[in-house]
Amino acid sequence: MDARLIIDRDRCAGTGVCLPIASRHLQLADSAARAVDGTTIGIEQARAAAACCPNEAITVCEQPPAVFRVDAPIVTLGPSGTDAQAEAYKHSGQVRLVDSFPDAMRAAAENPGLRALVAAGYLALDAEVCMADSWVDQHFTYTGVLQLERCWESPTKPMCMAVRRDIGRSIATVATHPATRVFAARYAPGARQVSVQAKPLAAQAAAHAEVDACIASVDIAARYPQLEIRAEFAPTMVWLLYVKVGRDG
Ligand code: SF4
Repeated sequence: MDARLIIDRDRCAGTGVCLPIASRHLQLADSAARAVDGTTIGIEQARAAAACCPNEAITVCEQPPAVFRVDAPIVTLGPSGTDAQAEAYKHSGQVRLVDSFPDAMRAAAENPGLRALVAAGYLALDAEVCMADSWVDQHFTYTGVLQLERCWESPTKPMCMAVRRDIGRSIATVATHPATRVFAARYAPGARQVSVQAKPLAAQAAAHAEVDACIASVDIAARYPQLEIRAEFAPTMVWLLYVKVGRDG
């Protein structure tokens, strides 16, 4: 099994002790270790690197192989770079991206050849930060039209709090998808939260100086040199796959 290392940059002292053990996966940047995008290492090597860290700054994120494939296109939330897109590609070679999970459900309802991939924790907020929509609403909306084909838990892409490099320790605003508000509160306590439709848009908002910080996937935040990754973490998500009722009938 492959693994990826998550570095807690608040704990990492930049000693470099871990680098020889995971030289193809880790590098020093801004006086702290960080994983090189798109790389993984073997699980035993990953555990050895984590064990050697004197500051307990390394978490091993195991990346199990996809457990099933579907012989159909999957439609899910974009833009490119979302966890939904990454999860969909684990299970199908054909992925279509739309602007929202409701749009994905609608597409699957109208096309028996599509599967809709939706996060069970999906939640949409309006401008007053009141709940405007959720997976529960969508599930009930399509009763008798779509049926749940599969439900499973899967690690997200490694996530982070990234901060503009021109911002000091005080963070006034943080962009976050509604589902990651808890991480925004944990890593940027007291900051005003600005909701976005998808995590790539949070990174974009911070990079364009619309906010001070964001909760984003590590690979997306790393595309913006104006952002500094200050904390990494790796939660899991629960995913649902819907198919049109009577598709085979
Ligand atoms: S992760 Fe640990 S061992 Fe690696 S550089 Fe940071 S403090 Fe040193």
